[in-house]
Amino acid sequence: MRPSFHPRLINQAFDDPGLFIPFLFQKRALIFDLGDINSLPAKDILKIGHAFVTHTHMDHFIGFDHLLRLLLGREKTLSIFGPPGFLKNVEGKLAGYSWNLADKYNYPLVLQITEVQPDFTICRSYRCRDRFEPRQEAVRHPFDGVLYNEPAFTVSAVFLDHKIPCLGLSVKERFHVNIIKEGLKQLDLVPGPWLSEFKQALYNRIDPAAKIEVDTPGQRGKIQFALGNLAGQIARITAGQKITYITDVVYSDANRHKIVEFARDSDHLFIEAPFLEKDRLIANQKHHLTARQAGELAARAGAKQFDIFHFSPRYTDQESMLYEEALEAYNDFT
Ligand SMILES: [Zn+2]
Ligand SMILES: [Zn+2]
Repeated sequence: MRPSFHPRLINQAFDDPGLFIPFLFQKRALIFDLGDINSLPAKDILKIGHAFVTHTHMDHFIGFDHLLRLLLGREKTLSIFGPPGFLKNVEGKLAGYSWNLADKYNYPLVLQITEVQPDFTICRSYRCRDRFEPRQEAVRHPFDGVLYNEPAFTVSAVFLDHKIPCLGLSVKERFHVNIIKEGLKQLDLVPGPWLSEFKQALYNRIDPAAKIEVDTPGQRGKIQFALGNLAGQIARITAGQKITYITDVVYSDANRHKIVEFARDSDHLFIEAPFLEKDRLIANQKHHLTARQAGELAARAGAKQFDIFHFSPRYTDQESMLYEEALEAYNDFT
């Protein structure tokens, strides 16, 4: 199976946290957290359409400026989601610059900011053409755990405790469409952009009798198939991919329970591990996890694969101890 999402941590484990999630064969990506993103190439940053911020401690939000600077002057709507107080946080950042020339750009950037509260979200638009002053009313929606929804996938959030609210984040594909190479061969078809349209049609639950056009090389040109018929010959549907990102959380009963439920059966769990278990009192005071706790949570959630990050600088040159401790706990609890 070729996964649809290809998540990677943006920085080394001692640097700012953040997860970059590009989509297979598409020029688009999600990003979880906006810490220092200087190490991301501009071509990757330009793929970002939706950003999700766990909380606004500096190491998770200082990259907002960098992102904004690169996208300024482009025809784009950037959606950013964040915890309680997020509209004020973003407005504070925007108020830090002069925008007297912003209405002159040919291509207007629009920021669509969503603040997440435990039971509702508040969404507000900030347009470059309006010098980022919020001209439209904020819109309120109920919040039931799903932050963002498309036919192919959803992004969910859970409220966790880090002395302030901190969002756990997860992206889940609704189902996965595997293309059967043998099936393509039998129909004499070659992969191309039509495959993305074909998959999208399946996600959109389009009528199986609907016709889909397939580009073929050479003389045959475009061929029409009934969607259901084609799917029966070239596609196999399996469970969707799930990626979960947990950072900046205290090891409390409530958090533990919520994290295990939220991350349940993740294909890949990214979980913070700033401290060693021998320093768990410090970890607790700072409202963070130890590597042992991270490994235990990954195992209890049944994560198939997990990665740790957000290491405290006190362990410089001892990072192998953090990895070993987390892996040992994962094996102990699996
Ligand atoms: Zn942090
Ligand atoms: Zn923090």
